Amino acid sequence: MSDLVVGIDLGTTNSEVAAFHDGQVRVLGPGPSRMLPSCVGISPGGELLVGESARNQQLVYPERTVRSIKRKMGSSETVSLGEKTFSPQEISALILRELAEWARRELGQPVERAVITVPAFFSDAQRNATREAGAMAGLEVVRILNEPTAASLAFGFGDGARHTVMIYDLGGGTFDVSIVTMEGDVTEVLASHGNNHLGGDDFDDLLLERLEGEFHKRHGIWLRDGHRAAQARLWWAAEAAKKKLSFEPHARVREEALVTQNGKPLHLDLELSLPDYEKMILPLAESTLDSVSKALQDAGMKPGDLDAILLVGGSTRTPLIARLLRERTGVEPRQDVHPDLCVALGAGVLASRLAGHDVERVLVDVSPYSFGPSYLGERGGMPYSYCYHPIIRRNTPLPVTRAESYYTSFPGQTEVDIHIFQGDDEDALKNILLGDFHVSKLTPTEDPNEVMCRMSLDLDGILHVSAIEKRTGKSKHITISNALQAKSEFEIAAARKRIQELYASREAFPAELEEEAEETAEDAEVPDLEADVIEAQRVNGKIIPMDSGWVETRREAVELIQRSRPLLDRMHAEDKEEAVALHATIESAVARHDSKALAEAVKSLRELLFFVEGS
Ligand code: AMP
Repeated sequence: MSDLVVGIDLGTTNSEVAAFHDGQVRVLGPGPSRMLPSCVGISPGGELLVGESARNQQLVYPERTVRSIKRKMGSSETVSLGEKTFSPQEISALILRELAEWARRELGQPVERAVITVPAFFSDAQRNATREAGAMAGLEVVRILNEPTAASLAFGFGDGARHTVMIYDLGGGTFDVSIVTMEGDVTEVLASHGNNHLGGDDFDDLLLERLEGEFHKRHGIWLRDGHRAAQARLWWAAEAAKKKLSFEPHARVREEALVTQNGKPLHLDLELSLPDYEKMILPLAESTLDSVSKALQDAGMKPGDLDAILLVGGSTRTPLIARLLRERTGVEPRQDVHPDLCVALGAGVLASRLAGHDVERVLVDVSPYSFGPSYLGERGGMPYSYCYHPIIRRNTPLPVTRAESYYTSFPGQTEVDIHIFQGDDEDALKNILLGDFHVSKLTPTEDPNEVMCRMSLDLDGILHVSAIEKRTGKSKHITISNALQAKSEFEIAAARKRIQELYASREAFPAELEEEAEETAEDAEVPDLEADVIEAQRVNGKIIPMDSGWVETRREAVELIQRSRPLLDRMHAEDKEEAVALHATIESAVARHDSKALAEAVKSLRELLFFVEGS
């Protein structure tokens, strides 16, 4: 017998198979997703369909398709496919058989032994049914593994030391949160809560309702009244829009000729925004947070007692989920193993160990740094031009593309400077400036104009940044070619020094950082900052150089602010008020690259100082 053992996540919505291959644990299978929809069907022509093809026919021929069979495992219920009847084990066996075939094709050897995962709350009857399904598929089930344990193994918590972790698992149709301790081979589930009927499918349903409602509003037709094919198309569109909203601030749904009325095709074209979508799903997301609190309570723990919170299941890609968890627990949830593959990968770790390979955890390419642009926001109740939060967060699996929206800050604004940073500090100036570019010819608008910043980071460490004016689609782009390389002291010093040069406002540049930057820059003897740091990053983008008048005015602005600060307390109340207001005007003019406003504010501050210093 071969010593091959595979690990299988037999999921409610999707299933995957993983095994040791080419020196590491990998998920196997065709296509980029390597996920098999847990759907089985029989086509009207009598052909057996497993996976994607079954899922495709599901809305049109529901009576010929089975999904979510996992919910019925361990029961004596049967399911019908056309004229035939099957037990839940038989349906699961068909899914397992397909996965084993995927693995056989990729590994070039027969698959006979498997580790299969099940939810922690599965009863003995459900576990036995899973074993039976394996046997029916011709597999020896060498171990039934709890899903939270599998996830912990994938994240490297099966190293023998004692760890306590929370596993938050939100899939397509189920939600579970478990708190487990792992030590050596012993895993104890301290508490678990969940909802067997909550998941990403509910998010799809809410979106579908919105789309159907919109179609009804526009054309007076309810698609649920007998327009099955059109409804199926909208359902796909809803899921695709949901996935897009995990990475972008908008998703456009454009479905042509959904139905025809009096020979006229009727379309649906609408844009969904992330805030609207988040409002829609918030009650569901909140309900999962209640389970998190209950699980912690039952385990007698506080979030601080946990070594980690692990995100598992495709629906945890929804950014609202990680955000709520972060806000409520104060713990940054870990997402560094693909959430929809991580249970299979963990099963693969155990399977590989049982097959005699020395595997500690799975290897995933992740970004070691966070990246994002600075923006004009508020800090300590004051406007601040260098607010920052990352668009791509540290430890995100690669490749990744994410976008966020920003808005112009005053009516008629047609230009914006985009500065891209590497780091996590909410003050951009404490991070490392990687590159910048100037966007001009924006449409002048009365209301804030939306500019999207899209960032893509690939496995080679190439960071693509685009600024896109939402209303026109006009875009500008730069490529930063070495975003993942650790910066040398020299480069950090150079980048910091450059920040000083770029931003004239003393307020915007904390004293201690400036000193440190100067010192290191001197130590490193930086000869030519512009050429050394920035040239390499101007691959495609044109960075418009600042004109010398602007740089001069900014320099003067810095000097005036520095001179005026120590005098503030000696000034008359009115002068002080004016000086503080001028500081703010300068700050905002610099952020907007508004040379006229800057020149005027500098002139006023110069005059005020002349008057104050002379008195
Ligand atoms: P799982 O049961 O873990 O395979 O998760 C499947 C669920 O994850 C389905 O509801 C998918 O629509 C959902 N899902 C997959 N990718 C994403 C994504 N990028 N954003 C939001 N949900 C997703």
